[in-house]
Amino acid sequence: MQNFDVLVIGGGATGLGCAVEAASRGYKTLLLEAHDYGKGASSKSTKLVHGGIRYLANFDFALVQEGLEERHYFLKNAPHLAEAQTYLIPFHNLFEKIQYHIGIHLYDFLAKKLKIGRSRFLSKQETLAEAPDMNPRHIVGGGIYYDGQFDDARMLITLLKTFESFGGAALNYHPVTGFIEEAGRITGVQVVGGEKFYAKAIINATGTLTDQLLTLAEPNKTHDNVTAAQGTHLVFDQAVFQCRHALVIPKTVDGRILFVLPWHQHLVVGTTDVKMDQPTLEPAAQEAEIDLILNTFNQYLTQAVTRKDIRALFVGQRPLVKPAHAQNTKKISRKHEIFETANGLISIVGGKWTIYRRMGQDTIDFAIQKGRLPSSKPSVTQNLALFGATDHPEAYPLNVYGTEAAMIRQIQEETQNKALLHPRLPYFQAEVFYHLRHEHAKTVEDILARRTRAIFLDVEAALEAAPWVAETLAQYFGHNQEWVRAQIASFQAFAAHFKHST
Ligand SMILES: Cc1cc2nc3c(=O)[nH]c(=O)nc-3n(C[C@H](O)[C@H](O)[C@H](O)COP(=O)(O)OP(=O)(O)OC[C@H]3O[C@@H](n4cnc5c(N)ncnc54)[C@H](O)[C@@H]3O)c2cc1C
Repeated sequence: MQNFDVLVIGGGATGLGCAVEAASRGYKTLLLEAHDYGKGASSKSTKLVHGGIRYLANFDFALVQEGLEERHYFLKNAPHLAEAQTYLIPFHNLFEKIQYHIGIHLYDFLAKKLKIGRSRFLSKQETLAEAPDMNPRHIVGGGIYYDGQFDDARMLITLLKTFESFGGAALNYHPVTGFIEEAGRITGVQVVGGEKFYAKAIINATGTLTDQLLTLAEPNKTHDNVTAAQGTHLVFDQAVFQCRHALVIPKTVDGRILFVLPWHQHLVVGTTDVKMDQPTLEPAAQEAEIDLILNTFNQYLTQAVTRKDIRALFVGQRPLVKPAHAQNTKKISRKHEIFETANGLISIVGGKWTIYRRMGQDTIDFAIQKGRLPSSKPSVTQNLALFGATDHPEAYPLNVYGTEAAMIRQIQEETQNKALLHPRLPYFQAEVFYHLRHEHAKTVEDILARRTRAIFLDVEAALEAAPWVAETLAQYFGHNQEWVRAQIASFQAFAAHFKHST
């Protein structure tokens, strides 16, 4: 029998935020993830570390302020993975000019001392000088403000390593399939295969699948707490749009915001907020969304892009707290909520990546208040430098490992292998050995989607790299050729989610 203080179900941003918070406060903690860390929304975000300038339109100032505060800790504690980024909003008329002047000033004001750069406003000529590939039609000027940007799946693995550095235990490919109840209280969980784990506080951090876990815990009740909102992003070569900044297109035809972000020497272009009836961790792209993104982006380009220019696409579903009758997910707040079932399962839902730390802190505080955990030292995560954090990381592409980049250099020396995974991918083969030894990677998908970001950058290049990765994994784990074939086939099926139909 394995006993813990805290057991976290779900290895996304929310679950790992809770796990780091618990372990760093001295609680003996276990995290169980059904697939791989980041299999759900947490590897498919827009990659913004932000207060959420768009939520100003909902007058949700407290929410924006919370995001801006957490942005500060995020950038400070993981400087090797997150950085300040300038965002350019083009203005089309006087009304927009006034509206965004107010919005940007208010955003800066809410950040107070935690501002990360000085916003500024540009004439039409200045705007076009900053974004030489921007179509000048209808542009009357622009505004530049600061937010952050990061690599989401690498951040998750960094949280995992931080958690382990505090003695935490984490198991991927361990789906929770049932709860153990004694005298009306949930005291443990069962995973596939029948193994059981017990803990004083059990936390459901399963994102869009929260209600499924709640139904396992309380089968006789109806659970309807979470809405899944889908977002789609297209990835292009960076050369399709020369711009010194990320671009914010404030309104698609249906009133959503579209972001164009430089990321790993590519360009990520996408939007979110399509309400879905059925949650899934690996959603299919909707062709209409791809068209909408292409059409909107093309309005701002001098040289239009087509489907042929798309290197990859990715689609994710975020968990939003369900208000009684919401039709429109862009209006649903990004607030997080924590609640407990009558038999003691704690659930944390909503929020966003940027505030993962705060969500973790609030959840552990909640468990203490409910008497599930003995009180501990106060939270230390505001000033907790994450695993590998350094202000002087190696040059790209090894910067994302922080101080651990030295280990990869060492593996390169050891194996006499400085080859890239693929000529079009910014990853070394030596990184794969590091992922196997130190980062719980078990499948080709783990390596090419969430340890490297290969499939997010270039789906065809990732498919071409897959056989080498499968062979390397098979040698490391002692698997046979049948396993290699099955892994490649499974990766090819997975890759279908990163492609469009034509
Ligand atoms: C398209 C999109 C863009 C976004 N962009 C941004 C952004 O730019 N900035 C930002 O701050 N936020 C952004 N977000 C929001 C952010 O990504 C999410 O709020 C966050 O990732 C949710 O994390 P989570 O851990 O709650 O859910 P998930 O990441 O989905 O994790 C839930 C985990 O639970 C696991 N699980 C489920 N059932 C079980 C079980 N039975 N046993 C064990 N494990 C289980 C799943 O496998 C999964 O890994 C975006 C979201 C989306 C979808």
